[in-house]
Amino acid sequence: MAESKEVVVIGSGINGLSAAALLAVSGKKVIVLESNPVAGGAIRTEEITAPGFRHDLFAMNLGLFAGGPVMAQLGDQLAAHGFSLLPSAKPFCSVYPDGSMIGVEADASATVHNLAAVAPEDVHAWEELTAKLGIWAPFLIGTLGSDLPSVAAVKTLWKAHRALGTTGIYELVKLALQSTRSFTDENFSSPKTKALFATWGMHLDFAPDVSGGALFSFLETIGGQLFGMVIGEGGASSLVDALVSVIEANGGEVRCNSRVEQITMAESKRKGNRATGVVLEGGAVITASRAVVSNVNPRLMPALFPASVAAEPAIKRVEKFQPGLATMMIHVALNDLPPWTATEARTYNYVHIGPYVDDMAMTYADAAAGRLPHSPTLVIGQPTITDPGRAPDGKHILWIQVRMLPLDLADDSHWDDIAEDYADRVMAKIEEYAPGLNSLVIARTVMSPPDLERYNVNLIKGDSLGGSHHPSQFFFLRPVPGWGRHRAPVDDLYICGAGTWPGGGVGGSSGAMVAKILK
Ligand SMILES: Cc1cc2nc3c(=O)[nH]c(=O)nc-3n(C[C@H](O)[C@H](O)[C@H](O)COP(=O)(O)OP(=O)(O)OC[C@H]3O[C@@H](n4cnc5c(N)ncnc54)[C@H](O)[C@@H]3O)c2cc1C
Repeated sequence: MAESKEVVVIGSGINGLSAAALLAVSGKKVIVLESNPVAGGAIRTEEITAPGFRHDLFAMNLGLFAGGPVMAQLGDQLAAHGFSLLPSAKPFCSVYPDGSMIGVEADASATVHNLAAVAPEDVHAWEELTAKLGIWAPFLIGTLGSDLPSVAAVKTLWKAHRALGTTGIYELVKLALQSTRSFTDENFSSPKTKALFATWGMHLDFAPDVSGGALFSFLETIGGQLFGMVIGEGGASSLVDALVSVIEANGGEVRCNSRVEQITMAESKRKGNRATGVVLEGGAVITASRAVVSNVNPRLMPALFPASVAAEPAIKRVEKFQPGLATMMIHVALNDLPPWTATEARTYNYVHIGPYVDDMAMTYADAAAGRLPHSPTLVIGQPTITDPGRAPDGKHILWIQVRMLPLDLADDSHWDDIAEDYADRVMAKIEEYAPGLNSLVIARTVMSPPDLERYNVNLIKGDSLGGSHHPSQFFFLRPVPGWGRHRAPVDDLYICGAGTWPGGGVGGSSGAMVAKILK
């Protein structure tokens, strides 16, 4: 006889687990099915380089989760199940080829001091933007935390209109549509301040000239000093472990090594299709009396549907959902922190190397054309500054994210053959800013774009974002028209994850939105 649950969740990414935990706590009979041997999707901590060195293979910065709805609702339970966050007073800095740097600190006056030393002409604009964030934050965060479109989002807009007036609302719309180059040209004079800001766009797929990059960069750059940065004590996996424990403690189950091969369907009352459960690889059937929740990249979902349903135009449309460009990760075990020429960089959680806006624009153009960027944009995480327990005494780890790489290489080479060479180029580039770094390396593990997809099928061709975030695929358009509001065009089938609003990152918001619908 088929196993039966109220809610079946496919995939144990942060959003699948968040939805399941919230539903389990509210008394629903929930199961999470995960194809991998471990839960967590793009959150995973492993000793991947050498014994005693604990690396976050994918996400490290848990700031979005810390400020998100799941933490607000389940924070106490997660803490009781061993999850603890470590804040950093010095979230990020950018270093430049002349040996200078600008650091953003949780203390706004310290940030202004750092900026004044390198780009005094931009201090006034920085302070104005800091004040603006204080005014805008409740409305921006309110919108990002609401389903789109929804009554809650309209209420937030209405409150914003009353507080800011029509011109104020138009300013927010402008911010949401503006590129980082346009925003930084309007606000700053120094190429260094412009780069400090624009590098955050590159965390998503907002190259300097792409519309829509200013909003995220504004929230992360100016917000960096307001919200700081946090990492999980012992590694980001501690969050996954705590969520799994909360699910189990509330009668739910997370079952690994269980790939869902098909979502079963029946005719719905409205003459369309209705999800009724899933079939696992090997043939086991699990029925869902209330709903199936998919944490699968939407682009991959038609393959899980019966062939006749997958062929319907409303379903096939999601196959057009475009990935962002690819990412490579380099994990390094070190004898000491990098000997940055800009010595203070040793005290920051993230070190960004763009170095400048034009370099980032060229990097993106190269990657989009299938060429290996000459000057890759780098996010270098130094988690052992905040959490020394991730490495043996006195040792350190680096988390190096190489942003904007080709999904497909234009010449006939393959990532598997060139990844190590490209990683050498990356390390040589960092050495220019931290001479002597390579002599400190104990061990290194490179994860190429195809490796990312091998770890997690949702990371199509190494796209770390679960789908491009360009405006045509964002807000109420995510993932594609007809698949919005966390519903597939099939009754009782709900979607969450990076490919749905509000997009990538470890916030858990889309999982929370689905849980709210199903409670
Ligand atoms: C290298 C890298 C670095 C990042 N760094 C950060 C960071 O520092 N901070 C941040 O906020 N975000 C970061 N992100 C983004 C963030 O990690 C992801 O956006 C987020 O974790 C995605 O969560 P998700 O809910 O979409 O599910 P995913 O993490 O994509 O997990 C989905 C799960 O579903 C499973 N699955 C898929 N199909 C099936 C099936 N048919 N049957 C069963 N299981 C299935 C997969 O195996 C996977 O485990 C990073 C991402 C990457 C790749």
